[in-house]
Amino acid sequence: MALINEHFLKLPGSYLFSDIAKKVQTFKITHPKADVISLGIGDVTRPLPQAVRDAMHKAVDEMGSMDTFRGYGPEQGYSFLSEAIIKHDYAPRGVSLDSSEIFINDGAKSDTGNMGDILRHDNCVGVTDPIYPVYIDSNVMGGRTGVLEEGKWSNIVYIPCTEENNFVPEIPARRMDILYLCYPNNPTGASITKDALKMWVEYAIKNNVLILYDGAYEAFIQDSDIPHSIYEIKGAKKVAIEFRSYSKTAGFTGVRCGYTVVPKELMGFTLSGEKVSLNQLWNRRQSTKFNGTSYITQRGAEATYSPEGKIQVKEIIDYYMNNAKIMKQGLESVGLKVYGGENAPYLWLKMPNGISSWKFFDQLLYGANVVGTPGVGFGPSGEGYFRLTAFGTYENCITAMERIHNWLK
Ligand SMILES: *Cc1c(COP(=O)(O)O)cnc(C)c1O
Repeated sequence: MALINEHFLKLPGSYLFSDIAKKVQTFKITHPKADVISLGIGDVTRPLPQAVRDAMHKAVDEMGSMDTFRGYGPEQGYSFLSEAIIKHDYAPRGVSLDSSEIFINDGAKSDTGNMGDILRHDNCVGVTDPIYPVYIDSNVMGGRTGVLEEGKWSNIVYIPCTEENNFVPEIPARRMDILYLCYPNNPTGASITKDALKMWVEYAIKNNVLILYDGAYEAFIQDSDIPHSIYEIKGAKKVAIEFRSYSKTAGFTGVRCGYTVVPKELMGFTLSGEKVSLNQLWNRRQSTKFNGTSYITQRGAEATYSPEGKIQVKEIIDYYMNNAKIMKQGLESVGLKVYGGENAPYLWLKMPNGISSWKFFDQLLYGANVVGTPGVGFGPSGEGYFRLTAFGTYENCITAMERIHNWLK
C-alpha cells in the first residue's frame, strides 16, 4: 500500500490563476463579442532576442554534428554560463563568486520550490505578505506550515507589507529559521533600499536565519541606489541563497533557464548544532535529482551577456517599464492609488472605497473587459489590493487604460 504525502491534501483545492481563468471563461461565454485584455498572469509577451535565437540555432547545429554533439552536461550547468554570470551579473557590483557557487537550473520556480529538500521539516518559515505563492505552497508540501486557519498557516510567520508600512517589512517578534524575501517584489512592485536589506542581513546573522532571496526582477531596477543582489550587503554570503531567472528579462518563460547562488560560506545546522555546508548539500541534491538544463538553452542564456544580447535585453526591459509608466499615469489620472511600477513590472492598486480585491476583479472585468489579479490571492495582507502586470503589449496597455478611463469617468 503506497501511503501518500498527506501534506499535499492540506493545499487549498484550486489555484489562484485557475479561479481567474474560470471567471474569465464565464464572462466570455456570456459576452461572446467582448475582447478581453489580460494584464493578469505574469507571463511575458516580447519574443526571444535575436542574439539568443542565433546562439540557440548555432547550438542546435552543434548538437546535430558528430564532432560537436553533447550529451549529458554537468548537473550544475556549463562553466561558460556560470562564468558569464559571475563576470556580468556579480563582478561589476563588487561581488566575487566561484563558479561552484552557481547552479544553473530550468527556472527560479523549481529551485525556490525544491530548496526545501535540504531543510528539515520543522524549521519555522517566515514570508513577507503578500507573496509569490510558490514559497508557501512548497513548504506546505514539505510539512512545515501547520494548519490553515482563516487564510493563514499556523506555523508560518507572516510579515505584512502594506500601505501602512510603505511595503517595507519590519522584523517580527516571532522567531524564524528561514525567511523568503523577493525584491523587486512580485506582487507589490516594491523595491528594498540598501539600508533595509542591511537590517535584514544583520538580523539573519545575529539570529542564524537562512534568507532565500528571490531576485527574479533584479534587471528591472531603474534607481541607481537600489541593491541588485543581496550579496552587495556585507556578510550576506553567510546567510543567503539567491535566485535569478532569465524568464522575465529575456523572454525565457517558455525556454526555461535561471540560476541559484549557494555561497560556500553558507552553513546550515544539524539538530545537534554541527555546521554543514548548504552548497555541498544542494550540490548533492542537484546531482541526484537534476540532469542539467539543456545545452541549447544555456547557450541562449549566455547570449544575453553578449554586447548585442545586452542591448536587446535592455530593449525588452525598457518596453515593459514604459508600459508600467503609461499604466501608472493612466490609473492615477482616474483617481486610483497605485504603488510599484517604478523598479518592477508590477503595479499594485489600492482598492477604492474599501471594496474587496475579488469584487474589483469582477467590476474591472465587466466594466472595462480587463483582467488583473486580486491581491488577496497572494496572501492575507493582499486583501484590498489588486495586481496589474506591465508584461502585455504596448497596444493592449494603451487600450486597457482607455477602457478603464471610460469606465471610471
Ligand atoms: C516569474 C517569477 C520567477 C521566475 O520563475 P521561472 O521559473 O524562472 O520562470 C521567480 N520568482 C518570482 C517571484 C516570479 O514572479
